[in-house]
Amino acid sequence: MFAQPTTAGKPTAHPTPGDVIAQQIRRLIIDSANNAPRSQQRRIGPSEVGNPCDRALAYKSMDWPTAPGADREPWASVQGTAIYTWMAELFEQRDPKGERYLVERRVTVHQGHTEDATIAGSADLYDRLTGTVYDWKATSPDSLAKYRRNGPGDQYRIQANLYGLGMENAGETPRRVAIVFLPRQYRLEPYVWVDEYRRDVALAAIARLQAIRERLLALDPEANPAQWAAFPTSPDAKCFFCDWHQRGSTDLSRGCPGHT
Ligand code: SF4
Repeated sequence: MFAQPTTAGKPTAHPTPGDVIAQQIRRLIIDSANNAPRSQQRRIGPSEVGNPCDRALAYKSMDWPTAPGADREPWASVQGTAIYTWMAELFEQRDPKGERYLVERRVTVHQGHTEDATIAGSADLYDRLTGTVYDWKATSPDSLAKYRRNGPGDQYRIQANLYGLGMENAGETPRRVAIVFLPRQYRLEPYVWVDEYRRDVALAAIARLQAIRERLLALDPEANPAQWAAFPTSPDAKCFFCDWHQRGSTDLSRGCPGHT
């Protein structure tokens, strides 16, 4: 019998017109978001350098095929992108000549020997008056409460300082980094984490990435698939969002079962 997925993705034998339209909209959003240039970029960007999982960084560095069958859920990042666009327009309107605020300014964090080895990205906002690098994070209320309790974690801290280094490379004088957590809920109660700009944090993260790339060259997991296991995972790995996550996989060249 013809069965159509509902909005919850579960098949039903008698889809309503609303179910059909909901499924079409869902498909449109998922396909568009997963084919956006950002999701297809090969280069490792500042938001990824601090990924606590060496194996995920190794897969990404090799542009390794993502695990088959997984339907990525991009909705949270779509909401985030919409919020960042709104914030960018806000600051562009406040300072149309860009004298104080640099909005979505493209910066080179690290110039590699090849284009793929170069780390570059667009910093959400830089305030030249205070020397502050801002990074917006749209987040669920639960996660926001966690960040408020425990701080932003290494990956976000590294990202903010990498953009600080990128600003420094562009001739600016960053003094602070700020991560602004904006809740995805009706009530606006942001949490802002601020720290002094730490060039050493950025440089250590770049050195770690370079070490992973050197191990890739030495171990050559493409020719020796067992060597994928030599790239450690981390208890902080975000397997749910990982493009190479494949539950139960025993072949790391096809997918990773996650941190165990
Ligand atoms: S699934 Fe988890 S452990 Fe495996 S590579 Fe991805 S983030 Fe790392």
